Amino acid sequence: MAARLNRSAADIVRFLLQQGEMVTATQSLSDDMIELFAAELGADVRITEPGAEQEEELLRALEVDLAEDGAQIRPPVVTVMGHVDHGKTLLLDRIRSSNVVEGEAGGITQHIGAYQTTRSDHRITFIDTPGHEAFTAMRARGAQATDVVVLVVAADDGVMPQTAEAIDHAQAADVPIIVAINKMDRPGADADRVRAQLAERGLVPESYGGEVITVPMSAMTGEGIDELLDQILLVAELEELTAPASGRAVGIVLEAHLDRGRGPVATVLVERGTLRIGEPMVAGAAWGRVRAMTDDRGAPLSEAGPSMPVEVLGLGEVARSGDLFVVAPDEKTAGKVAETREHWQRQASLAGTAGGSGGGARLEDIFKQVQAGETATLNLVLKADVHGSLEAVTDSLRKLEREDVKLSFVSRGVGGINENDVQLAAASEATIIGFNVRPDRNARQTAETEDVEVRLYEIIYDLISDVQNAMVGLLEPEFEEIVAGEAQVRQVFRISGVGPVAGCVVEHGNVRSGAKVRFLRDGTIIWKGSISSLRHFQDDVAEVSAGMECGIGLSDFSDLKEGDVIETYTEREIARVA
Ligand code: GDP
Repeated sequence: MAARLNRSAADIVRFLLQQGEMVTATQSLSDDMIELFAAELGADVRITEPGAEQEEELLRALEVDLAEDGAQIRPPVVTVMGHVDHGKTLLLDRIRSSNVVEGEAGGITQHIGAYQTTRSDHRITFIDTPGHEAFTAMRARGAQATDVVVLVVAADDGVMPQTAEAIDHAQAADVPIIVAINKMDRPGADADRVRAQLAERGLVPESYGGEVITVPMSAMTGEGIDELLDQILLVAELEELTAPASGRAVGIVLEAHLDRGRGPVATVLVERGTLRIGEPMVAGAAWGRVRAMTDDRGAPLSEAGPSMPVEVLGLGEVARSGDLFVVAPDEKTAGKVAETREHWQRQASLAGTAGGSGGGARLEDIFKQVQAGETATLNLVLKADVHGSLEAVTDSLRKLEREDVKLSFVSRGVGGINENDVQLAAASEATIIGFNVRPDRNARQTAETEDVEVRLYEIIYDLISDVQNAMVGLLEPEFEEIVAGEAQVRQVFRISGVGPVAGCVVEHGNVRSGAKVRFLRDGTIIWKGSISSLRHFQDDVAEVSAGMECGIGLSDFSDLKEGDVIETYTEREIARVA
């Protein structure tokens, strides 16, 4: 930078020292420092993300033509938002299962991040990650997949803080909103009260002379769901949603993860064109030939057109959610574009982690520092199950930053918490936050000996409110989960009338019948529930301890695989030190 401004590095160091900033000539400068020095010289600087300008060039290389031609009507893409517990998940589940033919693919639908349903011969695509956090994280990355937002408001609870947030987010994105007034089966349900509250927020319902469609319904009984789907189709028709169905496909990555058996897996939403098996595609910094495609039922597909969500195998790396994907003219271009992006992403992440001032504080202690009038930095190591949630959590956490409490991400990644993460956290005085992931045994032990705080969450709202509360010194007492035992699935037996039973070896601790369990695949939580049956050879037993074999049946979960880990646990409240 010095050379660019016709100054020496020593000039910059001296200037910053006068401003009270200690830097050495080899250290990276923060954006603020760069702007400060440039302002001093009267120089004009524009700070851009590394690679932002190169990106335009890459899109030219890919010959992406976003001009409309041969436009055909496409299904609407819907995101469901609303306050926690108002019924988003149940609604999504209901719509999805109502469309599954009994017995099809064993009756099990896959979670691929989005699915399609059909109503009166029209298809509707639902994004399967409810909430506005993921929606906005995507938008922040330049991807807008959603055509219609369904805002779920519980009729017995009314407009709540996250309802209001969701309204803001949908309006900021200029996406039409349909309000589903849910839980109409509940005794305290009052649709009119909800409509009045919406009107207060500027969402004026039709019955109030406005234009906002409200649909009273119950995700529990199923009443009103068809009406909701009809209204979505109506809005879609008014919006005249079209896309060219021919030509090379362009779309966005909704979710991506690494599957132990299948390699990098990405759920993509085709926005225009048609995606076909064998085509070379680039998704962010990942590329590869499409090896296989499946729909949300796990059925193989050879091609996918506009608004179709599909799971794609064949990329060489795990893409990031919100990444644009493009089918390249040829393999060579695909590889080159991915490589260039990777280079710039690396530069960007180096720039992002360089510098950083002061020591970190643990979540529990952060308030003490704030009270003492110090500027506190909360260092975090963040791990999440998929890229989508990682971005969503990061984004929501960044919004919590204040003058006196800064957040610094020491590292962010997808997958279970391992010893490496704990070491890193110990070295940088960071708190580890896990979202839908668990620490493995080594990580747990190291965290204990190194006294690293590990906080695990399965609900984004809880995570955010904990961090927020820590900042104002209001951390609630915490429930500590004590891992009682761990069993590894060695073989899965399908027994008619009983359902699948996992043949396991208890690796350590003990496994008790009826115990609460978490089901882990590569350190990621894929299911929670309890043990419904426990057997040692032919006998039903109450407990099996380390080293022994056993058969474990789980309440209503059947997607067992060899190598999965069943972790049993108990809960205990731990007192917080003031
Ligand atoms: P989310 O946090 O918005 O995804 O909410 P969930 O879908 O997890 O629902 C929260 C709770 O409300 C669950 O216990 C649901 O079974 C329940 N619930 C959802 N919709 C209805 C409804 O229409 N009627 C009733 N009575 N309960 C509902």
